[in-house]
Amino acid sequence: MSEFSTPQRVRVLLPISTGASYDYSVPADLHVEAGAFVRVPLGPREVVGVVWMLDPTLTIDASKLRGILEILPVQALPVEARNFVDWVATYTMQSAGKVLRMCMSVPDALYPKARRKGFRLTNALPDRMTPARQRVIDAMEGGLAHTAQQIAEMAGVTTSVVKGLAEKSVLEAVALPSEDPIPVPQHLSGGFELSEDQKQAAASLVEAAQSSKFSVSLLDGVTGSGKTEVYFEAIAATLKANRQALVLLPEIALSSQWLSRFEARFGVKPVEWHSDLGQGERRRNWRGVSEGRAKVVVGARSALFLPYSDLGLIIVDEEHEASFKQDEGVPYNARDMAVVRAQAGSFPVVLASATPALETLVNAKSGKYEHLKLPSRFGGAHLPEVQLIDLKDYRPGAQRWVSEPLIEEITKTLAEGRQAMLFLNRRGYAPLTLCDACGHRLQCPHCSAWLVEHRLSRRLQCHHCGFRTTIPKDCPECEEEDSFKACGPGIERLTEEAGLLFPDANVAMIASDTMTGPKAAADFVENMISGKIDLLVGTQIVAKGYHFPNLTLVGVVDADLGLAGGDLRASERTYQLLSQVAGRAGRAGHAGRVLLQTHMPEHPVMQALASQDVDSFIESETNMRQNAAMPPFGRLASVILSSIDPESLRNCAQTLARKAPHGDNFMIMGPAPAPLSMIRGRHRVRFLIKCTKDQNIQSIIGKWIKGIKIPSNTRLQIDIDPYNFM
Ligand code: ADP
Ligand code: ZN
Repeated sequence: MSEFSTPQRVRVLLPISTGASYDYSVPADLHVEAGAFVRVPLGPREVVGVVWMLDPTLTIDASKLRGILEILPVQALPVEARNFVDWVATYTMQSAGKVLRMCMSVPDALYPKARRKGFRLTNALPDRMTPARQRVIDAMEGGLAHTAQQIAEMAGVTTSVVKGLAEKSVLEAVALPSEDPIPVPQHLSGGFELSEDQKQAAASLVEAAQSSKFSVSLLDGVTGSGKTEVYFEAIAATLKANRQALVLLPEIALSSQWLSRFEARFGVKPVEWHSDLGQGERRRNWRGVSEGRAKVVVGARSALFLPYSDLGLIIVDEEHEASFKQDEGVPYNARDMAVVRAQAGSFPVVLASATPALETLVNAKSGKYEHLKLPSRFGGAHLPEVQLIDLKDYRPGAQRWVSEPLIEEITKTLAEGRQAMLFLNRRGYAPLTLCDACGHRLQCPHCSAWLVEHRLSRRLQCHHCGFRTTIPKDCPECEEEDSFKACGPGIERLTEEAGLLFPDANVAMIASDTMTGPKAAADFVENMISGKIDLLVGTQIVAKGYHFPNLTLVGVVDADLGLAGGDLRASERTYQLLSQVAGRAGRAGHAGRVLLQTHMPEHPVMQALASQDVDSFIESETNMRQNAAMPPFGRLASVILSSIDPESLRNCAQTLARKAPHGDNFMIMGPAPAPLSMIRGRHRVRFLIKCTKDQNIQSIIGKWIKGIKIPSNTRLQIDIDPYNFM
């Protein structure tokens, strides 16, 4: 390399929320490339950032620049990943530093691990054999080297036994590789024999995976149609090309069934990325991704920001899921950003769902996305029959929530030796607790929300901020003793009722606060498959992904629950959630049935579910959005102001309202108190910005808030494409 190609100055992006990048000089003995992770001085501190630009045009005198301290011994962040960071920052109107911070979530991983000392067996035998020594020798058979600690654990001895054997030359010291190895998935072993429909879809995905071109495919198949098996073929093709693949799953930590299927197909476990990983695993996986040793990553939305060395495919499973949208920090939708990432890296992305988002369907209809359909369940299993129960006709008894027809159907199902599930998307015992004497309701002191009774943990809980307290003995309002009464059903109360109705059945309750990790999830799956559970009572956590062959009946206790509140996607989401739940029934040879308890049997969502006529439901939803110029036919953003001080909040909101620009192609609505007008002690108001598709909503907002001074006790949050309107 010639002298002239070595940059003398670089601009370094720092992972800090102000997001500034600073210029540094490069000491003569360092060779730095774009994307390199470097340690630099910042005021009195030292921080690690990424070289964003070589030889920038300086705004200050070159002699004033401070020098780079060190280039870290780790792969540079590839140009696609850097472009992605810039794109996400611009789109979400957040600083690039804040986005970069998501790529640098494991500071440990920036340095290689120190080499470790290991031991392996020699041919020598100890002069004196003890049972402990024998166990070590047995455990070490096979010749692999391990650390003293690992050997001690394997053999159930102390490390001093290991060291003793090393002194006697029965074990010899060797250097272990510094990084823990990551097993490589095998693409050669074929999967299942695919059906005709599956073959066609798979062929199209494989072709896309081989082409190294950007494309988006919607894999649109009813629940149980074998979407996973089909996209496994695309992963196999990507592995064959020796590139990396990423699978985004909602609720990844709980997808033990998915992981087992992957292992059955590819011989090893994939690399996982989610909040339940331990520090050591995070480090290993981050580094493995960066060095290209991690071939398949399955993860939550944050896995998008890992430093892939050669990413060649992204699958977004259950692409319609609202949990792909992050509301805090950098608000982004991982489904949409996956498409952007694929474009930045010129590779295909696959969006899979049984109930695709309206946005995605519109793109598929217009031809922007390839539309692959799997219209029937695999192996001849039929979609379950869906029936509505009008709660006006079949009113459950007082303080009861399960109607007579549903009770009958469950009784029949259990008598046939099959499993049933009651679905209610509400955690806790009761959504509302009030005083029987004066009607006083228990409210969270920090939020404008009612407290929810959790009887198992004997607590009242706020579902917005996590506040917990005990149920007061006397009403704080009227001082009546023992007067608090639960109103309405939560899943705990429903479980109680199920126990009374079906005393001989094994009833199990599953909610996100009771199924707390991968182990609990695996136990749950095991108990369902083995038939230990007869009647499952669950929230949305059991609605997705699971495959329980003997589950034939699903009863939805309150099908109307998601329709209240009337946000933009309320109908769409209720439809998606309920068809996912319904999709758990009858997935194997036995016919499934679904009963929906509703007060609104004539509602389009209920009609669509009962008639299984998705198309006309989607069409009418599409028309409604189009007429209202709502997404995906228009753009939407929200600006939320929040403060602990209501006075400065009001002032700031008024200033913003006064300065709001007007135009033909856009509209700024508000300020309105947010539906949750207080969260965690902060008062909130919101503005909604709506514009036509051809407008740049970011620049409208940018021009509007530019120059408006936001007091330091007030926070302004911008959310482009909001999903949450609370
Ligand atoms: P989806 O993700 O579309 O709901 P899955 O991929 O979970 O469907 O498939 C449903 C069930 O059918 C799974 O148990 C899967 O292993 C099985 N299956 C799907 N396709 C095949 C196939 N071609 N051969 C054998 N089993 C299959
Ligand atoms: Zn609260």
